[in-house]
Amino acid sequence: MTQIMIEKDLVLFNELVELLLEDELVNPVVEPTPPEDVVDVFDLGLSEFGSSEESFRKILKNLALQTPKTASKRFFNQLFGGRQGKAILGDLLSVMLNNSMYTYKVAGPQVGVEKEVLAECAKMIGYDSNFGGTFPAGGSMSNFMAMIMARDHFNKRIKHDGVAQKLIAYASEISHYSNKKNASFAGIGRNNVRIISCNDRGEMIPSELDKMIQEDLSKGYSPFYVTATAGTTVVGSYDDIEALRKVTDKYNIWLHVDGAYGGAAFFSKKYKHLLNGVEKADSFSFNAHKMLGTPLTCSLLFAKDKKDLTYSFDNAADYLYQTSDDDYNLGKTSLQCGRRNDALKFWTLWKSIGTAGLREIVDQLFHLANTARNYVDQHPDYQLYTFEDSLSIGFNYKGIDPRLLCSDLYESGELMVGYGQFKDEEFVRLISVNANFEDQDYLNFFSILEKHVEQNSERFVNISSLKS
Ligand SMILES: *Cc1c(COP(=O)(O)O)cnc(C)c1O
Repeated sequence: MTQIMIEKDLVLFNELVELLLEDELVNPVVEPTPPEDVVDVFDLGLSEFGSSEESFRKILKNLALQTPKTASKRFFNQLFGGRQGKAILGDLLSVMLNNSMYTYKVAGPQVGVEKEVLAECAKMIGYDSNFGGTFPAGGSMSNFMAMIMARDHFNKRIKHDGVAQKLIAYASEISHYSNKKNASFAGIGRNNVRIISCNDRGEMIPSELDKMIQEDLSKGYSPFYVTATAGTTVVGSYDDIEALRKVTDKYNIWLHVDGAYGGAAFFSKKYKHLLNGVEKADSFSFNAHKMLGTPLTCSLLFAKDKKDLTYSFDNAADYLYQTSDDDYNLGKTSLQCGRRNDALKFWTLWKSIGTAGLREIVDQLFHLANTARNYVDQHPDYQLYTFEDSLSIGFNYKGIDPRLLCSDLYESGELMVGYGQFKDEEFVRLISVNANFEDQDYLNFFSILEKHVEQNSERFVNISSLKS
């Protein structure tokens, strides 16, 4: 009975997928529904009795087709997008298998899958076999685990006694917002994250970091953690890891490299130099669900020394750890207890296209970013705000308010793209994270945007003409 039902459900699933794939070609941007109306409009209400099969199908179909289409040719809005078929296959399989990754007893060979992906990445970034690694529930969580390791490394008593010192963390002015949240979770406090300014290429200024650390030391505080960013969220800049390592070495401070967005550049021969020095960092993380296009979430965290990961995250649990060597009981180094299998989708992708295929994905993303940046740079109606070797292209068009332009493009069902800020400037933030795109998709982006402005010129008040 159950068997037949699952087979029927999978047939329905396949039907929905087919519909979605057809629909996103003709309706690439879903018209937004006011959020307060969605329960009514999509018949989401839950009740005592289940729906008839027919109405269930109808509701599900409508829901699927009216959900924002992150794999369409018009989606440039966030740091993920597109689809890698083999990764989707792996993720679907992990749902069917439904293992939890904490022990070898219940995850079996999936433990080997996770360990192999981690080991191969660790080798590529230059960590030796003492490394430790895990798949946290996202980049923010990877940063959190890194901060906890740094805290416990700084003072081995904290995990037992709590935080008593004034611990200070450092991050650049454009580092990810999770750093402040994590500081509050870790008992450090948001006010104890020092914000270090960046140069005009969006890189943390090492001498400013040094100055700030000295100031904190002179007050008797305890600097313990610096996070460098490999691909900042808004402008895609890469901090100079080597230079930051020199400063952190001087004071014996933990250096983490947050590569959630741009860290996968190490797969590219041409761009791995952006992460020079990462092999000297105490920890490193990146999201395969951003640059590499696996389904959400797929985040990897590495500690240079496995002992740090174990010290912070191991906990005896007799009910759980009943067999096998701890090296194969992955719960000994994870934040969660039950943990979904995020490794399989990365492994199926990697196994099928090889390291060469992953390298092509990364190179294609930088290529597309160059195409878009060159277009903006050479077109007199555009102003460019970002720099080379970045996957983010910040621009404004004819001085139009970027907020107005982005929301207008979205509401009219043309394009999904967001805006960002850097150094008091606000701009449209175009992203390159979908390796299925081609040059033409970016050129289409610009022509849709230009046509939209031309046809709706009355709505766009030119800021620069207002200013003058
Ligand atoms: C996206 C991002 C994160 C957060 O990753 P999530 O998986 O969304 O939690 C952290 N750091 C940087 C630099 C990011 O761009």
